[in-house]
Amino acid sequence: MTRIVAIGEAMVELAPAGADDLYRAGFAGDTLNTAWYLRKLLPASDQIAYFTALGQDALSDKLLAFIAAAGLDTAHIAQRDDSSVGLYMISLTNGERSFSYWRGQSAARRMLADDRALRAALQGADLAYLSGITLAILPPEARARLFDLLRDFRQAGGKVAFDPNLRPRLWPDPKTMTETVMQAAALSDIALPSFEDEAGWFNDPTPAATARRYREAGVALVVVKNGADPMILATADQSLTLTPPRVTDVVDTTAAGDSFNAGFLASYLQQGDLEQAGHAGASLAAAVIGQIGALVALDHDA
Ligand code: ADP
Repeated sequence: MTRIVAIGEAMVELAPAGADDLYRAGFAGDTLNTAWYLRKLLPASDQIAYFTALGQDALSDKLLAFIAAAGLDTAHIAQRDDSSVGLYMISLTNGERSFSYWRGQSAARRMLADDRALRAALQGADLAYLSGITLAILPPEARARLFDLLRDFRQAGGKVAFDPNLRPRLWPDPKTMTETVMQAAALSDIALPSFEDEAGWFNDPTPAATARRYREAGVALVVVKNGADPMILATADQSLTLTPPRVTDVVDTTAAGDSFNAGFLASYLQQGDLEQAGHAGASLAAAVIGQIGALVALDHDA
């Protein structure tokens, strides 16, 4: 049995629902999306937990129920009385999506107010999964507690997978973002960056340069995603370049990277084959971008 703990912020999503002033409420968030797909892909005997903090209001209760209904372990999610969940709203203008966020006060920002809950969640786990967004929403002292916990977790034999998911507007300044991301990389066994983001903020000329930078930071396995272009998978003794399947009808690229990560990790954890895992990530992402929304039904759901 494998136990995975995904750590981050789940939010309420308001998406346009037809008429101009009509919105549908759903739930999403980068690490939640990955956990959600991991749950679909891995055998029922594996345990996938989501770690965050929520409020005690009705919306938080609904989000908690959603996470549990997805088959994710919610045992270590605290419900705080001082805050609620974050919210984002999608606007469509001439077919282009833009996002507005209300997440500054979300309970998730306080998920490491004390480190006991996460310590308990990680107890006996095999893999911790987090992203740059997980880091961005935490106050600096909570981030330091998270890094300490990850150090202890790795010492005890656990592995850490990390998607840098660079979101400059969640950080006080670009320098804090890039420095903190590389600190997390130094504590990670698997890094899953996206070249387009990395190139802009780290001045990487090529995906190979991105792979090298994370390898040099100490990451054993680096997968550099690159949209429709070839991805790079690099370890100490292997470097592969794989081209994702062509998607002729890209409908909505939301959660492309999150779903890729789930497809990759599920395959890699089960088969341990880098090339196969790269293809598995890309084929899940291809299915996800061919449909609207972050969380889409998969073929084998039917
Ligand atoms: P992110 O969503 O994190 O920015 P990318 O855009 O690099 O990440 O996409 C992640 C993965 O999704 C890619 O590695 C690829 O497998 C798949 N993907 C994204 N866009 C396309 C596309 N236009 N055609 C085919 N695959 C794509």
